[in-house]
Amino acid sequence: MKNALVCGAGGFIGAHLVRRLVADGYRVRGADLAVPEFAPSAAHDFVIADLRDRDECARVLADGVDEVYQLAADMGGMGFIHAAECEIMRNNVLINVNMIDAAAAAGVGRYFYSSSVCVYRDMAIGESEMTEEGAYPASPDNEYGWEKLYSERVVSAYGRRHGIATRIARFQNTYGPEGTWTGGREKAPAAICRKVAEADAGDEIEVWGDGSAVRSYTYVDDLVDGIVRLTASDRDQPTNIGNPEYVSVDELVATVAAVAGKSVRVRNVDGPVGVRSRNFSHAAIEGLGFRASVPLRLGIERTYPWVAAQVEAARDAR
Ligand code: NAD
Repeated sequence: MKNALVCGAGGFIGAHLVRRLVADGYRVRGADLAVPEFAPSAAHDFVIADLRDRDECARVLADGVDEVYQLAADMGGMGFIHAAECEIMRNNVLINVNMIDAAAAAGVGRYFYSSSVCVYRDMAIGESEMTEEGAYPASPDNEYGWEKLYSERVVSAYGRRHGIATRIARFQNTYGPEGTWTGGREKAPAAICRKVAEADAGDEIEVWGDGSAVRSYTYVDDLVDGIVRLTASDRDQPTNIGNPEYVSVDELVATVAAVAGKSVRVRNVDGPVGVRSRNFSHAAIEGLGFRASVPLRLGIERTYPWVAAQVEAARDAR
């Protein structure tokens, strides 16, 4: 039985990844500032730790860890990314530098790092597909992306020096049940689900930007499958994981409203929209047998009822 450490196991993707690794037969330790908010962790043991601290990184690696999955990060949607630049750059660099340094000292053989498509520059609508190499010359749209790019390089450098098999994924926007849905750190799919769930039929909901920005949204089970395949592979270059179904923000809102069975009116307001467009190649991850299997409509059918239930419970608690 292999021992896996999932850093950020209290978070959205980390909690789902823990379930998958346990189902695959790993012995899993989770580490995070806090346990998952919405369901008990499936990890065999869970250590509360602040991974900005090098000693804490060493502590969570004690007793032998074969594989580290590093998903701990101070992060959120575009609103948070723009409001908390300094916290993001400081906290995440500390986590990433100290965790890979401690993993190297502990003799960890395989190390997965969760980067983001925020490392890429803004793209024009209709621009042809960008491969992983397109991240250079570097021009990320926000400081979160610059930190991710720097940490990719830190992880790769430690891999080369210490003979660690490093695997780096650049995640696209990921959504699903048990993701942050309120409080300021939620991302667009959860925020739209919440606004639609809170609305009465015919109400107006606010959407940041003019609704034309193009994105793709990856259902969390698909993303986790990509993580597992990439980590088990021999590919040591940063690799996009995502869904090739690209939609505008308007189309995302329309999908959520259709799933909810509500007609809502949209009021476009100024807000931190982020890049205008995305169009990434998935050839590398598909070469490892990965294919996103959950189209947006199906993913929203699985996610909306969960968000609507949270909205309902919060209403009842008031
Ligand atoms: P999340 O916020 O739900 O989970 C991150 C977890 O890290 C949280 O539970 C948080 O408590 C923990 N954490 C933060 N600071 C910590 C610290 N000092 N010590 C220990 N734990 C700490 O985020 P997520 O959506 O699950 O994202 C996981 C990873 O994937 C992150 O690296 C994120 O940047 C990356 N990513 C996510 C998306 C997405 O759409 N969700 C897209 C691109 C990249």
